[in-house]
Amino acid sequence: MIRASTMAGRKVAVFGLGASGTASALALLAGGAEVAAWDDGEAARSAAAAAGLPLADLGTADWGGFSALVLAPGVPLTHPEPHWTVVEARSAGVEVIGDTELFFRERAAHCPDAPVICITGTNGKSTTTALVAHILRHAGCEVEMGGNIGKAILTLAPPARERFHVVEMSSFQIDLTPSMSPTVGVLLNITPDHLDRHGTFDHYAAVKERLVAAATVGCVGIDDPRCLEILKRKVAVGAAVAFCVRRSIAPGYSMLGSQIVCSDATGLAVRLADLAGIATLRGAHNAENALAAVASVRECLRLAGRSTQIDWQGALGTFPGLAHRLEQIGHAGRVLLVNDSKATNAESTEKALASFPRAIHWIVGGKAKEGGIEGLAPYFPRVAKAYLIGAASDSFAATLDGRVALERCGTLDVALARAIAEATASDDAEPVVLLSPACASYDQYRNFEVRGDHFRELARQLPGFVAREDAP
Ligand code: ADP
Repeated sequence: MIRASTMAGRKVAVFGLGASGTASALALLAGGAEVAAWDDGEAARSAAAAAGLPLADLGTADWGGFSALVLAPGVPLTHPEPHWTVVEARSAGVEVIGDTELFFRERAAHCPDAPVICITGTNGKSTTTALVAHILRHAGCEVEMGGNIGKAILTLAPPARERFHVVEMSSFQIDLTPSMSPTVGVLLNITPDHLDRHGTFDHYAAVKERLVAAATVGCVGIDDPRCLEILKRKVAVGAAVAFCVRRSIAPGYSMLGSQIVCSDATGLAVRLADLAGIATLRGAHNAENALAAVASVRECLRLAGRSTQIDWQGALGTFPGLAHRLEQIGHAGRVLLVNDSKATNAESTEKALASFPRAIHWIVGGKAKEGGIEGLAPYFPRVAKAYLIGAASDSFAATLDGRVALERCGTLDVALARAIAEATASDDAEPVVLLSPACASYDQYRNFEVRGDHFRELARQLPGFVAREDAP
């Protein structure tokens, strides 16, 4: 655990007692602060009390006595409107910060040179964060990974010169981290998302830009125009490295076929690794994630005074991937089973359909998002058949009718049984059964993880199923 010693002797309000809020309160207590913890939910308050946190009703508290409000990242700071605790804090002149701010203050106070890589972007954050951590571990480095992925940041080991922190940051966390100053800041891409929480696209992009602006070196994916502008602004004032999937760039990191190359300003290129045949890094979107990971690890090793001559191919080739994101769970006979339950919208499912050239037996449906799946039409020729599940069945059937063979299956178990039977009976040498719902799961499941776990369980029960050995 990281002790939040920079708040020692001060009174701090903590609101939102999920995993990160609870960790913040414990870290503040361990660092010698006086904590007033609160949550709107009775269950969260009881769990916090059981964990030994001092509860105080912030609705009736004297805000003048607080030095800071530590807010959980899921609680609205600005949009659609500031949470009542934020209003109280602001009117009392109390700063509003998050757990990553406490982390950076601790680092600044005790070990400002400790290497930290922070990763943000609209898509690919978790995959890239996990890949960066994996490459560093493969190279023999001590690594702590957390933030928006896995563990709350203050539950990790403290920053240290020989220890690399790899931190996924959502826009909400960036918003709450004014003194963020990573060694390397990675910005993958920016597309409109979470506008309900950030108001406008401009504001959302500006929040993301802060991570690059604050970094010693910014690593920016320039496949989209917003990010290209951000790179140019960073280059004007500091150190920046670009990566790009769609075209070759010099200087920067790009793809030469399936190979990752790094070019200097004269165009002289070094080949670092080949993604061909790496099942967990399939697709152009994962090429972007791999470029980001290689670029940021190289920069961070260099700044940490370590050798950058590491086994890139071995590191990338052993990446286990993340569950529910194009997760190749195994084979039933010659049929490959892929769990892409994280694809809760058409944009994500597009990445999955683009990753397999043909013979896709596609299990799709759930609670549909606005726009449905019409945008996926260019990929319909790759689909051998669609197996519809959940509440979206009628609307998706209407979209697919006459363009793709389809069957209404209702539930996942029926869909998988039908898809396996037909894929096995097909002529194709490598048919794929792909769960990529393009929908939220809430009509039939608690969340996308439960949906994906159910798919994996059903797959395991198939006759002759062989699991992928290095599955995550
Ligand atoms: P995040 O943490 O940003 O939500 P993940 O790594 O969990 O991202 O990936 C979620 C989904 O986003 C994947 O299943 C895939 O469909 C899509 N995705 C992953 N990486 C990228 C990328 N670089 N660009 C666009 N989409 C991506």
